[in-house]
Amino acid sequence: MIESTELEQFQNFIDDLILRNKSILDQMTKLQDASARLNRAISKSATMCGCIKLETAKQQLDFSSISSSEELKSLLSTHLEGYPCPDCNESIEKEMGRVLFYLGALANTLGISLSSVVENEKARTNILGKYSLK
Ligand SMILES: [Zn+2]
Repeated sequence: MIESTELEQFQNFIDDLILRNKSILDQMTKLQDASARLNRAISKSATMCGCIKLETAKQQLDFSSISSSEELKSLLSTHLEGYPCPDCNESIEKEMGRVLFYLGALANTLGISLSSVVENEKARTNILGKYSLK
């Protein structure tokens, strides 16, 4: 018997719940909406709450003198200063959950396993290594 992963359980859970947004069109637009809400929650952490700061600057993209991925990591910036406070963290997590829910619903409708998606993405990224530049 194949052991059910947490992602497979999550997809089954979504499949049991989703009724109102059964159409792939609803799922596509709900995923996009959830993604926008996630960005909005992160943005509000900086602009309304102030628990995080966005410190943007041009990234150092001259890789010619870089010898290791650790060195590369230390040179590139997230442009994020601080971490979300508990309230902001809660709303960001809630919106991330909605993104995962509608991504799972879309995967179910298309007959795609999120576990396979994760495994394939890890394998692809691992092959490309630091040159994937994600
Ligand atoms: Zn906050």
